[in-house]
Amino acid sequence: MANNDESRGLKSLLDWFANRRKSGSTIQERQEREIADGLWHKCSECGVLTYTKDLRANQMVCAECGHHNRVDSDERIRQLTDPNTWRPMDESLRPSDPLQFRDRKAYVDRLREMQEKLGLTEAVQTGWGQINGLPVALGVMDFRFIGASMGSVVGEKLTRLIERATERRYPVIIVCTSGGARMQEGMLSLMQMAKISAALQRHREAKLLYIPVLTNPTTGGVTASFAMLGDIILAEPKATIGFAGRRVIEQTLREKLPDDFQSAEDVLKHGFVDEIVPRTHLKQTLAQLIALHQPPALTPPHNLVMWETRTLSSTVAES
Ligand SMILES: [Zn+2]
Repeated sequence: MANNDESRGLKSLLDWFANRRKSGSTIQERQEREIADGLWHKCSECGVLTYTKDLRANQMVCAECGHHNRVDSDERIRQLTDPNTWRPMDESLRPSDPLQFRDRKAYVDRLREMQEKLGLTEAVQTGWGQINGLPVALGVMDFRFIGASMGSVVGEKLTRLIERATERRYPVIIVCTSGGARMQEGMLSLMQMAKISAALQRHREAKLLYIPVLTNPTTGGVTASFAMLGDIILAEPKATIGFAGRRVIEQTLREKLPDDFQSAEDVLKHGFVDEIVPRTHLKQTLAQLIALHQPPALTPPHNLVMWETRTLSSTVAES
């Protein structure tokens, strides 16, 4: 009798463990399904699960560890500009395939696929917008589009943005991210570096403000041109910023590089960027910098007018 009770007890205990294991795996499966559906997001740094809606409300920055998840150009424009102030430009400019390039896939097919999938014509969006009521010319690169590589249309759109900003006397903000030059366009891609840099020089000669914001990753030809030509250069925490890739350098030097090599923090230490700004403070920081660098108002201040009048009348009196 006692034996029977014992075996029944053992059986129910085993059932309990089995059920627990089963329900445990169902919870895990459900979580995995919800992550796949995009309802939840698992942080790649700390592994904490966050409701995607909450993560988006925090500008895609993990509230637990501060990891900055990558954001696409649409999201970035929403984060930075005031509501209903974004006016895109040059949306009809489309890349061509002058070299009829083909690797695993024909370049034209790769472009068409990207355009259909992302609803973008190229790897950068440019336009006018307002940041806390201050007008700016804004360019935002999108890493999803062939690694935001710099093709001739990326170069042309940025050049036109800067030239128009010079005409209107607007500050330029470019949110940079890039894998480098667009190898499928060969030389034409490299020429963009000089073209954008020349437009920036004219903008600078007009005494106007340019701020590049370096996000993860900013590398290659973009780093070697407009990303490093800012009056004030900002970067997001832990963004990879460099010219040649880490592996290439390690193979050339034949030595192991430190873990924080090419991180925004390391680059700041060496003086290549001016400040690391967390994304949740970026809009406010940009607004403050733009407000500080506003061109002086056309009407001179009252005391200046008085001083000029005095100088003028004294000159008249002397002669
Ligand atoms: Zn995290």
